[in-house]
Order: sequence, then structure tokens, then C-alpha cells
Amino acid sequence: MEQYRNYINGKWRTPSTGVYVPNINPADPDEVLGMFPQSGGIDVDQAISAALAASCEWQRVPGPERGKLLLRFADLLDQHAAPLGKILTKEQGKVLKESAGEVKRAAVEARFMAGEASRLSGETLPSEVQGVWVQVIRESLGVIGAISPWNFPVVTPVRKIAPALACGNTVVFKPASDTPWTAVYLMELLIEAGLPPGVVNLVMGSGSVVGQHLSESSAVNGITFTGSTATGRRIYTAAAQHLGRVQLELGGKNAAVVMDAPNLEEAAKEIVAAAFAASGQRCTAISRVIVSKAEAGRLTDIIVELVRQIKVGDGLSSDTTMGPLISHARLETAEEFVRNAENSGARILTGGKRLTELGKGFFYAPTVLRGVKPDSPVAREEIFGPVLPIISVESIEEAVTICNDTSYGLAASVFTRDIDKAMEFAGEIQAGMIHLNHGTASQAHVPFGGVKASGQGAFSIGSTAKDFYMTNKVIYLRVS
Ligand code: NAD
Repeated sequence: MEQYRNYINGKWRTPSTGVYVPNINPADPDEVLGMFPQSGGIDVDQAISAALAASCEWQRVPGPERGKLLLRFADLLDQHAAPLGKILTKEQGKVLKESAGEVKRAAVEARFMAGEASRLSGETLPSEVQGVWVQVIRESLGVIGAISPWNFPVVTPVRKIAPALACGNTVVFKPASDTPWTAVYLMELLIEAGLPPGVVNLVMGSGSVVGQHLSESSAVNGITFTGSTATGRRIYTAAAQHLGRVQLELGGKNAAVVMDAPNLEEAAKEIVAAAFAASGQRCTAISRVIVSKAEAGRLTDIIVELVRQIKVGDGLSSDTTMGPLISHARLETAEEFVRNAENSGARILTGGKRLTELGKGFFYAPTVLRGVKPDSPVAREEIFGPVLPIISVESIEEAVTICNDTSYGLAASVFTRDIDKAMEFAGEIQAGMIHLNHGTASQAHVPFGGVKASGQGAFSIGSTAKDFYMTNKVIYLRVS
């Protein structure tokens, strides 16, 4: 069984603990894919020291030159979409098409950030004083801790590493414990693209040791984190002790509001795609439908019909359209939400059970619930599984109230032909991203983020990423 190693200061290194843990295939938990480091604080400290040492030189490399490395990396991602996608499917479970799509999306984001490296502009301001020039320039932040989740193990790290490098920072990267293999592969591609030693360091291990240690280190200037709100709070608290900057991309409870939809079939297609891609394990997954009483029956029928066509199985099979959940724990969470919903009066229209006939994998049937109470946990909390509750309402005001009655504020979709309603929703809904007559899919050059318990700090992707990865410096210059 292959043992993988951390990558620190330009070398593959065994963890100081000497401990390795198995990485399993969620479609077949008996299959061990490799043994991966369970690193300790010493490894994190070594990686931080390497990043710190490399920082001075890397920030002096001209932005367009740093961009060239990212362009080579983006090309390599495209070239490796099939083999890297296969690894992604094996360790994460999503279907091959989604995996290859994720790798290609990561390439587009890396390419955008390569361009950003030539656009790290500041501003020149008119001065109050004659003969004095005023400039605001941007400088790199320093050492960045990048902590990523398992649900998008390629695009999320790239979304952190590419802007960090473009802006002249160095990185310590801690991937999720469930998806370390794709992280090793990403490092290999970065090395092939010409990464200098120490500029990106990979330390694998648990969140409570590696992630926590990274967040607590005063030598780390910024932590970019994607994951659950509970972990985000811990990281925010740890970083606050040394006034470290944070970018937190957290959970969501994204609603699709359907009210006078222009086309119910189209709305249902968008909703089902956004709800069940990656087995519902997406921060922007649509995880509740709020529909007018007049449209509820027809919309529900179409959604159920589409969901019944989903073919669950091993993501490596060409006919599979939805893979397993990542772990046994997530399977139990989905079951618990559905059981509680049923106990409080909801009706299961399809799904609502494990698919044990598919073997030992963590397979759960795509599930649609009707008659869901708006204040029940399934309607307000993040499920992160293939479960879609449907709530019917009388009015636009009721829809907005229910939509906002959650601690989250990531994304929302509204399907309506009424432009006034659409704009009222866009104004009233508390979310970072609003989609009108469109599922919750984001684009590779557009700012991405949430409000309330869904995020903190600068939006990632697109032009706003620089706000996290760079700091301002003001220069007053008197000319004689
Ligand atoms: P998680 O919070 O359990 O773990 C995320 C990462 O944090 C992992 O690498 C983990 O090892 C690490 N971690 C755990 N404890 C830590 C600690 N004390 N200090 C530092 N790091 C620690 O989340 P997950 O289960 O991997 O991912 C699912 C969650 O991610 C969902 O809530 C989902 O909504 C969210 N997510 C959000 C976005 C977004 O952009 N808003 C995108 C994808 C996923």
C-alpha cells in the first residue's frame, strides 16, 4: 500500500509523528486507496518556516511572472482532467463527469488568477497639498494558511492557492482528511509548473491538530478556510488571538423560491440539478423549495419524476448520475433529518432510505419531502446530503420571511416571470448570491461568498479575492 508524504520546502517528507491513516473509497469502504500522513504540530511549524523563508523572494517576483507559473499550472490541470478526475471520484465519490468538470473549472479559475497577477493595481488620489502626491499601493499579505473541505477537493484548494500566489503570498495547504490524494496530485502539478521551494507547502492531517495549529500560529498572516460554520468559528477565534486575517466560506441553506415561474419544467430541472449534484454535498446546493400554493402540486410532480430518474451508484460507472455520500457519518445525518421531518408531519415522496442493495458504500436515495414545516430543522439547517424539502406558501412576503429564517445567507434562486417580484426578492433576500430564473451555479470569474453564518471576509473568485490576499500601503511623496 503506497504511503504518501507531506511536501515541505521543496521536498516530500515523512510526518514527524510517523503515523499514517488509510484513505478509503466511499463507494466501497473496504477499498483502501493509500496511507496518508497524520501530521503533528512540528510538521506545521516546519511548513510555516519554509513559507516564511520563501516569502521575501516570491513577493519580489514580478506579478506577470508569477502569473506565468499559474498559466502553466492551469494547462496542466486541463491536461490531467481525466486522471485527476478519476482520483477525485475514487476518494470523494462524485461521478466522473462532475469530477472532470471540477478539474476543468479549477483550470479556468487558475487562469483568471494568472491574469489578476498583472492587475494588482492601487490608486493615485488627488492631494490636499500642492506638490504632494498620494498613492495607495497593494502588497502581498505574507504567509497564507489554506484549509479546504472534502466536497470540492480540487477546485477549493486551487481557489485559495492560485490567488495567494498571484498576489505574491506563500502558502501552507491543509486539505480535508477525507481527500488527501487529490491534494498530493495538485502539488505534483504545481511542482511541474515550476513552483519554487517553500512557496506552497502541503501538510496532511486532522483538523483539530494541523488545522488548529495553523490557525493559531502568529506567523500566518491570513487563513482562508472553506468548511462548516462550526469549524469556521473555531478558526476565527484562533486567528483573532494574533489578529490574523480570515476568509471564511461556510455552510448554506439555499432556497429556490418559485412564484409565477415562466416555465415550471425548466425551473424543476434547474432545482434538481442544483439540489442533487455531488449528492447534495455542495455549499450552494438548493436545499429547500419554497413554492406558491398554486404551483406546488405541478412543480412537486415534475421534481419527483426527475429525481426518480437519478441513477445512484459508483461514480466510476458511466451510467451513474449520483455517487455515494463521503462518509458513514453523513449517511446518518441525512437519515436523522429525514426521520425528524417525518416525525413532524412531512411526507416522503421518493427516497428516504439507504441503498444497501448497492453494497457497503455510503449510498442514500435522493429524497423529496413534502408538507415540511418551515420552522423544522430540515427546513432551516444545512443537511449536506441528497434531501430536498418542499414548503408551500401563500404570498411573496411569506416566501421572503421563510427564506430569511435561517442563520445562513449563501445563495438563493428565484423563479418568476414577474420582474417586480424578482427585484423585490433580490433586494429582500439575505444572501451573498441571488440567481433569478437560474440554479445556484456560480461562474469562474465572478465574486463568490455569503453573509450571516455563511461567510466572513472578502468574497473569493474574481476581482474581490485580492482584498483578502493583499494589504494596502499608502505613500505620500513630496516633490520639490
Ligand atoms: P469541516 O469544517 O468539517 O472541515 C473543513 C476543513 O477544516 C477540513 O480540512 C478539516 O480537517 C478542517 N478542520 C476541522 N477542524 C478544524 C479546526 N479546529 N481548526 C482548523 N481546521 C479544522 O467541513 P467539511 O465537512 O469538510 O465540509 C463541509 C462543509 O463545508 C459544509 O458546511 C459546507 O457548506 C461547507 N462548504 C462551504 C463552501 C463555501 O464556499 N461557502 C464550499 C464548500 C463547502
